[in-house]
Amino acid sequence: MTTSSTHADDTAAAATASQNEERHNFQAEVSRLLDIVTRSLYSQKEVFLRELISNASDACDKLRYASLTEPGLIADDPDFRIRLSFDTETRRLTVADNGIGMSRDELVDSLGTIARSGTLSFVDQLTGDAKKDMSLIGQFGVGFYSAFMVSDTVEVITRKAGTEQGYRWVSDGKGAFSVAPVEGPVPRGTQVILNLSEGEEEFCDETRLGHIVRTYSDHIALPIVLEGTDEGEKQLNTASALWTRPKSEISEDDYKEFYHHAGHAFDDPWLTVHWRAEGMIEYTALLFLPSTPPMDLYHPERHHHVKLYVRRVFVSEQADGLIAPYLRFLKGVVDSEDLPLNVSREMLQNNPTVARIRKGVTKKILSELQRKANDDPEGYATFWSSFGAVLKEGLYDDTENRDALLSIARFRSSASDGLVTLDDYVGRMKEGQESIFYATGTDAEALKRSPHLEGFHAKGVEVLLLTDPVDEFWVPALGAYQEKTFKSVTRGGADLEKIASGKDDEDADKSSDDADENKNGEIGTVIAAFKLALKDEVKDVRVSHRLTESPVCLVADDSDMDIQLERLLKQHGQLDSVSKRILEINPKHPLITALARNAGPDGDADTMDDMAYLLLDQARIVEGDDPSDPAAFARRLSAALARGLPTN
Ligand code: ADP
Ligand code: MG
Repeated sequence: MTTSSTHADDTAAAATASQNEERHNFQAEVSRLLDIVTRSLYSQKEVFLRELISNASDACDKLRYASLTEPGLIADDPDFRIRLSFDTETRRLTVADNGIGMSRDELVDSLGTIARSGTLSFVDQLTGDAKKDMSLIGQFGVGFYSAFMVSDTVEVITRKAGTEQGYRWVSDGKGAFSVAPVEGPVPRGTQVILNLSEGEEEFCDETRLGHIVRTYSDHIALPIVLEGTDEGEKQLNTASALWTRPKSEISEDDYKEFYHHAGHAFDDPWLTVHWRAEGMIEYTALLFLPSTPPMDLYHPERHHHVKLYVRRVFVSEQADGLIAPYLRFLKGVVDSEDLPLNVSREMLQNNPTVARIRKGVTKKILSELQRKANDDPEGYATFWSSFGAVLKEGLYDDTENRDALLSIARFRSSASDGLVTLDDYVGRMKEGQESIFYATGTDAEALKRSPHLEGFHAKGVEVLLLTDPVDEFWVPALGAYQEKTFKSVTRGGADLEKIASGKDDEDADKSSDDADENKNGEIGTVIAAFKLALKDEVKDVRVSHRLTESPVCLVADDSDMDIQLERLLKQHGQLDSVSKRILEINPKHPLITALARNAGPDGDADTMDDMAYLLLDQARIVEGDDPSDPAAFARRLSAALARGLPTN
């Protein structure tokens, strides 16, 4: 192979270290990342090139957008492209772009710290165990820093468009880098010069580079050219925007690589939706639903990652209003034919065309999800477990699409180990059942065992187990589904009496009803004694129809807020006090019947007080709360245990 002298090499030579060189340490996270990257035995080292080309393409997109309002920025060099060149003898590989470039401060920030929250939390997961870490890197990629997988030192020479002074950044990837102004002219944009490590000669090879570019970067809309080949300059990629190509000409791998680049994603897309809308408004959309939830999915500032293009020109990374907030996990591209090219990012916010596109995108995605739910219920269930909580935000946010959302919504339920639909639930409702019963909490398994569900289990009444915080909001907002009201099992009114029992336990029901009546007098005494003992601790004490196994439980009054919702608001500091609960007691529980026998006028009033508190605290513990006074709880428990032991 002949030695090629390129533009990049000349500039590098001109960039002799100046007096003004500054040394900086990498941010701690970057150092950790680099440490792993440089020690790595990662098998797919060639992805460094994908990362550098991706950055170069982003930089060109940014400048193209800036030049819409400031054409002078690109007047001297209007044709965007990415140039690769290499020199076999010195083992140097250069990736150069004529994009936006970086100012000195941007250089220090962008190539010395990690700004992306996803990448930061990825670094937090690094264990130091090379194998595990490498599989993580495979999933997340490390952007620019991947250059150190193959290089002893990396130089970056850059000049920001519209400025005169160029800068040179150099590092060996071992904790520090230096930055200095370059004397003399520097071309606009950025050159990344890799001084390849020994053993990485394969990246100074025309065939190899061509292959890597076609594999990973064919979707890049700019020409990627290799300089210094026998034929001179050679274009390596197709260089047309992927979404403008006919679907039949795009392979699954093309889509995948585009997803990685445009979405800054490293998993594979779970669903790819590529369509062209024509009519009132025209746009092309190529959107992806990820297979793994991004780490910042619930971050309050989390944005969607759908890039807005206008007639093939990149306009905005995260155009406000383009994507419904509850579809913020979407990644990809929307390319509008109707928006003006010089639309400012601020103008996009309330733009009617953008709003129309949002509507169209929402409808399309929801119908694709419905299709997946029908065709591949298992795959859909996995998707729903990751993203359902976000989609459910739409149930109160987007009344227009509520029905479509309800139809793709899935729920955990007491009646099944898998996920159920609301229609499944309604179809299984018992005779006399008027409400859709639900329990809210943080853990579906724990909810299934909750005392509140005992009576429902006994009567075979299904209960939805809602474990996402968002459930506290959409359920009240909806109120009902197919005229069946939603009713929490922790509310006082979740009354089971009206619901017909299954055949088997009808008789048992009758006899226990009789027993109820016989004992009503004594239970009444227990209730009176408990009320007296607990005075202000509870709102009321009453007989329960929902308990079969447990002696007691706490419920909310019909007029009060749901228990779980109150807890949530309190956690978030939006409530200072919680409302009092109703203590329900199970008249058939042996402990309660024994208490009833003791409750007469010659019963021990102190014992009764202790029992009242112990049972109240027990009900609190079952709910996952603490006893109101742990020391008193322990004292009473010890006393009760002591009473149960023989005294001589
Ligand atoms: P990411 O591309 O995900 O932001 P990288 O590690 O690949 O992360 O790059 C970090 C940042 O460095 C980029 O966001 C960008 O600001 C800057 N950068 C990298 N390469 C270039 C380039 N060729 N031109 C301009 N800026 C660049
Ligand atoms: Mg990048």
